Amino acid sequence: MSIVVVGSCNVDFIVPVAGLPAPGETVLGRDHLRAPGGKGANQAVAAARLGSPVTFVGCVGDDELAATIRGALVESGVDLTWLHEVPDTPSGIALITVADGGENTIAVSPGANARLGPAQLDAGLLSSAAVLLAQLEVPLDAVSAAVEAAGGTVLLNPAPARSLPAELLARVDVLIPNRSELGVLADAPEPTTIDEAAAMAKSLTGPSAVVVTLGADGALVVADEVEHVPAVPVDAVDATGAGDAFCGALADALARGSSLLAATRWAVRVAAVSTTQRGAQTGMPRREDVTS
Ligand code: ADP
Repeated sequence: MSIVVVGSCNVDFIVPVAGLPAPGETVLGRDHLRAPGGKGANQAVAAARLGSPVTFVGCVGDDELAATIRGALVESGVDLTWLHEVPDTPSGIALITVADGGENTIAVSPGANARLGPAQLDAGLLSSAAVLLAQLEVPLDAVSAAVEAAGGTVLLNPAPARSLPAELLARVDVLIPNRSELGVLADAPEPTTIDEAAAMAKSLTGPSAVVVTLGADGALVVADEVEHVPAVPVDAVDATGAGDAFCGALADALARGSSLLAATRWAVRVAAVSTTQRGAQTGMPRREDVTS
């Protein structure tokens, strides 16, 4: 059964530096890396690599970066029929500096991603998909319209964090925040324990279920019952994109008819494997990498 991802696509430019530049300072870094990114594209790639049919709905600019974005999605088998090219507009980019200690700075220019609107959504596509998966790196009116038109299970990864209208949350079947996003939605400090996260997720009104990702502590399913799914122990080398791998895998399992608990167990396994490879999209595992 098919998955539709409505969201962002970027090219990330990553400069490794010894130390982060202070305001007004120039530092010389090492060779830069150029990597496809954007939460929407990352999650579409994650679900497609696991074998689900995935259609991506989003916007690229009319510049040379669009080819990099398209190429990465096509290589993973994502259907780009509904990827729109916006004239006279740059593609989305993220400028990232990463210091040797792992600290980073990130400046995002959404570019074409900010031009996604309700008019670019196809009602037939959204009503027929088994699962809609969305995030918050595209305008909220586009996300709201997509959720409204969805005929299947609605998954929302509320990243980057912001408060959300009650009407939108009421249409969400599964909300997938990490700890800090959960804090923002509950208008409370970030939960520090699993029990605190469970209580905070329960306090949210609207979504039928909340699945909280807890980094190296795994994930928490908060529905009629509360279940903690511990992380799979791995030698993590890069947790960038672990949350995106998790969301894509949850969509993959739910589209195949799994229960929410079984889907969360699958997502925890997929996300763990994703942390053993570098890069957000390049580190997304294929189905056989997880099942073997
Ligand atoms: P985000 O990247 O959005 O902040 P998390 O850090 O919560 O999300 O990670 C998402 C999921 O990835 C977690 O729920 C967990 O299953 C998995 N994960 C993250 N870090 C690790 C780790 N060090 N070891 C094993 N699994 C991990």
